[in-house]
Amino acid sequence: MDFIILSALAGFSLLMFTISYDIACQWKTRLTEHNTKMLKEMQLQLDKFTYQCVVPGWHAASHNDKCQENNSLSFKLGIGKTDSEGMERVWSIMNPMAYHTKDIGCGQRTDVVEDKIDSHNFQKNLGQGM
Ligand SMILES: [Zn+2]
Repeated sequence: MDFIILSALAGFSLLMFTISYDIACQWKTRLTEHNTKMLKEMQLQLDKFTYQCVVPGWHAASHNDKCQENNSLSFKLGIGKTDSEGMERVWSIMNPMAYHTKDIGCGQRTDVVEDKIDSHNFQKNLGQGM
């Protein structure tokens, strides 16, 4: 997770961001420490950023009351009304693709997954009606 987040943020000059992660409450406690263990080129000056970590709405229900109080999307600045579970909703559509794409190369797999997501988004747009 550290590698994914730090890689994603490298090269961006964001001043403020929010990280939504199912177990952000636990993960964030060691982010600063883990940042110092990354390659120098990947390390971020986290003290230069304003960031907040949140637990997505549906996942928060399984966390204790204190965690929900501290990490709820409802109490964070700039979040709006999202539940931050958007990525989870496509898992059920994407799961069958694992079997279909397990024997193909990386490039072709990327194309197939992209086609599936494009199709999903197109169908979603059609379903919005007029
Ligand atoms: Zn928690």
